[in-house]
Amino acid sequence: MRTTVGIIGAGPAGLLLARLLHNAGIASVVLESRDRDYVERRQRAGILEQGTVDVLRAAGVGARMDREGLPHDGIELRFDRRRHRVDFPALTGGKQVMVYAQTEVCKDLIAAQLADGGPLLFEAEALAVEGADIDAPRVRFRRGGAEDVLDCDYVVGCDGFWGVARAAIPESLARTYERTYPFGWLGILADVAPSHDELVYARSDRGFCLLSMRSPSVTRAYLQVPADTDADDWSAEEIWDELDRRLEVDDPGWRLARGPLTAKSVTPMRSYVHEPMRHGRLFLAGDAAHIVPPTGAKGLNLAVGDVVTFARALAARLDKGDEGPLDAYSDTCLRRVWQAERFSYAMTTMLHRAPYASAFDDRVQLAALDRLTSSKAAEADLAEAYTGFPL
Ligand SMILES: Cc1cc2nc3c(=O)[nH]c(=O)nc-3n(C[C@H](O)[C@H](O)[C@H](O)COP(=O)(O)OP(=O)(O)OC[C@H]3O[C@@H](n4cnc5c(N)ncnc54)[C@H](O)[C@@H]3O)c2cc1C
Repeated sequence: MRTTVGIIGAGPAGLLLARLLHNAGIASVVLESRDRDYVERRQRAGILEQGTVDVLRAAGVGARMDREGLPHDGIELRFDRRRHRVDFPALTGGKQVMVYAQTEVCKDLIAAQLADGGPLLFEAEALAVEGADIDAPRVRFRRGGAEDVLDCDYVVGCDGFWGVARAAIPESLARTYERTYPFGWLGILADVAPSHDELVYARSDRGFCLLSMRSPSVTRAYLQVPADTDADDWSAEEIWDELDRRLEVDDPGWRLARGPLTAKSVTPMRSYVHEPMRHGRLFLAGDAAHIVPPTGAKGLNLAVGDVVTFARALAARLDKGDEGPLDAYSDTCLRRVWQAERFSYAMTTMLHRAPYASAFDDRVQLAALDRLTSSKAAEADLAEAYTGFPL
């Protein structure tokens, strides 16, 4: 098999890249190790930055998002029994975010690709990327029990943190930067209308929690828990009780609505960056190159930024013979990646209580929140980062 761009992975990065290339008249083949059902059901991100929303619309896959997604104009911060709303459009010149689940983004992109795009092969597991540094990249993969080879002009590794593409960059050329946090997120989905119409980020002496949503009838919520927590150790009642405690606020009119849980899992918290994001004709995009803790809602949005950058750079190469944007790919992406890493780290450390936190650390967190809620400049900084850095 031969194509212009071999894409490994059909998460948001790989699927969107295939669509952008298709729209630009560039051939691609997507290899995805899991089956379609699995990819369409994997519960993960839910917050789309303004730039991501604009890209999906421009790519022709925004119609259902615009019908079913929930545009949000702000978030609420809770701490010290207080609540404070951050108004995004007022602080950013009109930007919003959209609540629309990653599962739905993937379903829309898969449907579009299968309708009129290049091959999207499920249950096709990439085994290795070879020849990236000698201008003859190829992906060895296994499908239906047999091994095959995809010869390409370029390979883009969109295969997530546990994929194989990154391993094709020699260790001697790579630098990695990493932080693991001593806590994780116990996440739930529940069949109950969200108790607030915007996301609530709460810092309490018992730890962090986030009250979010997937739709007008589905609540998504997260509790900070120790890193080694088993989700089955928490009953539904214990989870709701703990959310209630952490969301406590001096407002007799506010109440947390409870409902039956439909999913429960623990996500580890990690920051990770692999530099460079390019080696010869192999390019890394999304979680294959970087991970952020979910506190800043940046992972999916960074993946979108990477593939938009690659698609534009490749079009410049193929249309005008301009190699410059492809050569700059890694630096261009990393600048945005590090802004997201900085923001996600700042949100995480401001809102979570580390097991070793001292009374001093608690005071510094409260001072940071006090600053945020009393300075328009500080608030605007959060709003700009949350709604997204320019693509
Ligand atoms: C609980 C949770 C909440 C999150 N919340 C948010 C949020 O609110 N906002 C946000 O922006 N981000 C969020 N994220 C992060 C976001 O989900 C990821 O950053 C995003 O999925 C990255 O997309 P990707 O396409 O790069 O990688 P992935 O989604 O990991 O996709 C990689 C794909 O490659 C496939 N693959 C792997 N290895 C191979 C192989 N060898 N051959 C072929 N295919 C392979 C995988 O099966 C997968 O389909 C969250 C993540 C989690 C876990």
